[in-house]
Amino acid sequence: MAPLGISFLIRSVYDLLPSNATPVRWGKKDDPTCPLCQGRQTTEHVLSSCKVALSQGRYTWRHNRVLQELASVISTA
Ligand SMILES: [Zn+2]
Repeated sequence: MAPLGISFLIRSVYDLLPSNATPVRWGKKDDPTCPLCQGRQTTEHVLSSCKVALSQGRYTWRHNRVLQELASVISTA
């Protein structure tokens, strides 16, 4: 796995990716609201739990982009 992929994986596991909840946790901001659904925006919310992102097909788009990238790498190899 590429270093950026490993970094993303580790930061996602430990909830260290940027979200609106991050500056709230650090005392830098008061509002962790998701701009799409008005729920609490955490890493989990951004990656898989936002109902508005789901209804807009954003998760499907991201899933398909990952598969396209994998297919590209496999066909090149
Ligand atoms: Zn949301």
